[in-house]
Amino acid sequence: MERTLVIIKPSTIRRGLIGEVIRRFENRGLQLIGMKMIQLTDEVLMEHYSHLAHKSFIKRIKDAMMITPVIVCCWKGIDAVHVVHTMAGKTNGREAAPGTLRGDFSISVQENIVHTSDSVENAIIELKRFFKDEEIFEFDKLDPFVFYANDEI
Ligand code: ADP
Repeated sequence: MERTLVIIKPSTIRRGLIGEVIRRFENRGLQLIGMKMIQLTDEVLMEHYSHLAHKSFIKRIKDAMMITPVIVCCWKGIDAVHVVHTMAGKTNGREAAPGTLRGDFSISVQENIVHTSDSVENAIIELKRFFKDEEIFEFDKLDPFVFYANDEI
């Protein structure tokens, strides 16, 4: 099974939508195996958003990500990276499909509810960035066969 990172962004926390975000991933059948509230720093954001370092809006994004603490979550499931990234929807909330987190709760490019890892390789890198090994837990939730067929696991 895969593991992936979700960051619940400051504007989501300020809007009181933490439970809504977590509920959706739980309802889908993903397992929450790590979660903590942290204050992001300029240094970690430069690393996390290095692919946007040359953009004019990089300072604005970083500032927005530091307004309050964020919640970082590790979700586990079969194809969890794709499942979670698809549930977030397109970056621009105005273009995101209804039914996605962004399509239902965002009307902005920047203030778009969550960060989700976009590939298995990046999920590994990003989880290491925000979690120590001992902050991610392996434990049985329900019998996995309530979520998956026996030949999927
Ligand atoms: P995603 O979060 O969908 O993976 P990116 O990695 O391209 O998207 O961008 C990271 C974050 O930077 C976005 O979630 C959004 O908050 C912000 N962002 C991206 N593009 C813009 C833009 N053109 N204007 C303002 N903020 C942006």
